[in-house]
Amino acid sequence: MASKRPSEELLMAYAAGSLPEPVALVIATHLAICPDSRRAVAEYEAIGGALLEEIEPVPLGGDALAKTLARLEEETPHGLAGRAQAGRGAADELPAPLRDYVGDDLGKLPWRRVMRGLEEAELEIGTPGYHSRLLRIQPGVGVPQHTHEGGELTLVLRGAFRDASGRYGVGDLQIADASVDHQPVAETGETCLCLAVTDAPLRLTGPIGRWLNPFIHLT
Ligand code: ZN
Repeated sequence: MASKRPSEELLMAYAAGSLPEPVALVIATHLAICPDSRRAVAEYEAIGGALLEEIEPVPLGGDALAKTLARLEEETPHGLAGRAQAGRGAADELPAPLRDYVGDDLGKLPWRRVMRGLEEAELEIGTPGYHSRLLRIQPGVGVPQHTHEGGELTLVLRGAFRDASGRYGVGDLQIADASVDHQPVAETGETCLCLAVTDAPLRLTGPIGRWLNPFIHLT
């Protein structure tokens, strides 16, 4: 069973503010939906802050660890975790971090038809080497089978999709790389809306994909 949440390393890097902007956007949007990840990030932020405060040229007393732990108990997480928490509004609204990038009206985005039942809208984040886009997959439609030359983060915002590794519903994050060759298929019933970030082109691998490769550009 594949993990559907960001790895600890990814959440720590996020808490430390060291992720490239498109990846940070994916994580921030995931945090707005997922309370477990939010709690984890709040802990990393508190630990990071407490450790920084401990870096002082004074001898540590024997109770330094106890004091640090006590402070962790006291500290209420603010910063992004707090903002993310406030970010989930009406059911049809996008999570706040993403809304800051794309606005309120999905219809205003530059949707482009990739194939029947699959549209994408490129997000202009401007980090070199990354492609960020929203994908709209009609119920029951499969994205062409593909693998990845780099990493691919796919966060489900509405609906759900499945591939061989399982089902991904709202808030679930799929992390794929060159070792993953998959064909995500949207569940029937509801259009699947995803935020996808890649750091290298996808390579289509299915029988149809090999033929399509020169014509459609999924990144
Ligand atoms: Zn993929």
